[in-house]
Amino acid sequence: MKVCFLTLGCKVNQTESEALAQYAVEEGFRVVKEDENPDAVIINTCTVTATGSSKSRKLIHRIIKEHPGSVIAVMGCYSQINPNEVAEIEGVDLVVGTQDRKLIFDYLRMTGGKKKETFSHVKSFNRDMKYEELPVIVRESRIRAMLKIQDGCNQFCSYCIVPYARGPSRSREPKNVINEAKALLASGYKEIVLTGIHIGAYGQDLQTDINLAGLIAELVQLDGMNRLRLGSIEPLEFTDELLEVISSAEAVCPHFHIPLQSGCNRILSAMKRPYTTDYYAQLLQKIRERLPEAALASDIMAGFPGETEEEHQESLRFIESCKFAGIHAFPYSRRPGTIAAEMPNQVANKTKAKRVREIIEIGQKTKQKYIQQFIGKELELLVEKVTEDGAAHGHTKNYIELKLPANLRTEPFQPGQLVKCILREEYIT
Ligand code: SF4
Repeated sequence: MKVCFLTLGCKVNQTESEALAQYAVEEGFRVVKEDENPDAVIINTCTVTATGSSKSRKLIHRIIKEHPGSVIAVMGCYSQINPNEVAEIEGVDLVVGTQDRKLIFDYLRMTGGKKKETFSHVKSFNRDMKYEELPVIVRESRIRAMLKIQDGCNQFCSYCIVPYARGPSRSREPKNVINEAKALLASGYKEIVLTGIHIGAYGQDLQTDINLAGLIAELVQLDGMNRLRLGSIEPLEFTDELLEVISSAEAVCPHFHIPLQSGCNRILSAMKRPYTTDYYAQLLQKIRERLPEAALASDIMAGFPGETEEEHQESLRFIESCKFAGIHAFPYSRRPGTIAAEMPNQVANKTKAKRVREIIEIGQKTKQKYIQQFIGKELELLVEKVTEDGAAHGHTKNYIELKLPANLRTEPFQPGQLVKCILREEYIT
């Protein structure tokens, strides 16, 4: 049976689709592209913003129209939050949420890949849930692998739908993480990225006495571990213990994403973010004292309900003072079911868009400044792609994106190579 995966949303969704595709192959299915006449199309949806939900709905409708004979299975965050709405779409055959996703393949086997009555299996969450293991992903281009270590979130920031879509924080058993990392390194991956929904909470739900710092300490000991990159870490979970471990391990990439969300204390409190700007500034300072060249990046949300122009300006000043090496700026998106969705004084879309632009502008300026300090210094590039002109494209350990010309070396570049270079202005993309 031929199955095709279509995925929207974040890296975790991408990773999970790839793992399920691997599972499908192990179970005897053939994974094909959309234009190869699939027997079943599996749509992995997103609902983190209103745009994510709208894209999910549009994709489901398009696939039903263009593949009338295929079984349509919908999974992911959008169907977890809106199971009935998805099940009622004519043409949808199977609805699962963010759990029990392997069931899709039992269903396909049972129905022989034929369209039957709509079957919905979206479970609600409970506190005793365990992490759902999915297969190890091995791609042909063994360059950078995502290694999922955790799912769910207990924080319930007032604007965020994720805890409702992903359930409580569940950590993967350390031995399973280590085994997957060993398998990835043995098959030739050069960089491993730890992903999850809230990786700083790693270990809190496990019986064993391990946390993120402890897990990293074990991972960096593995043979062949040259580059270990960390996904986003919440400010309060960037502990002294974690800083100690990452600053003494050569393999950990000095590139940390620490979501700030707002540079105004009143807004942080309304967002139910458990820190202040002072705390955040001290954290950055502490990291820079240990790792002066680290790239520190952040997420910033513009136009949270009630955010005044003065508060936005206050936020901009703080953001600028953080000297981020990268900013992901995005507008607040009203998510039904969250506390912030019911708050008064929702900010107009036009104002949100203007504020996002202003944050991006600061982000570009501070990113340029961050990169400039490395001109004339030696950096190591992981070659991710070699273009027709022979140039090597990739990222350094501190996540600077570079393009090295073919004539830099006598031998042609190869994807997966680690190449040392002295940074020149023209290499920066
Ligand atoms: S920490 Fe806050 S923003 Fe991040 S997933 Fe959890 S609730 Fe959402």
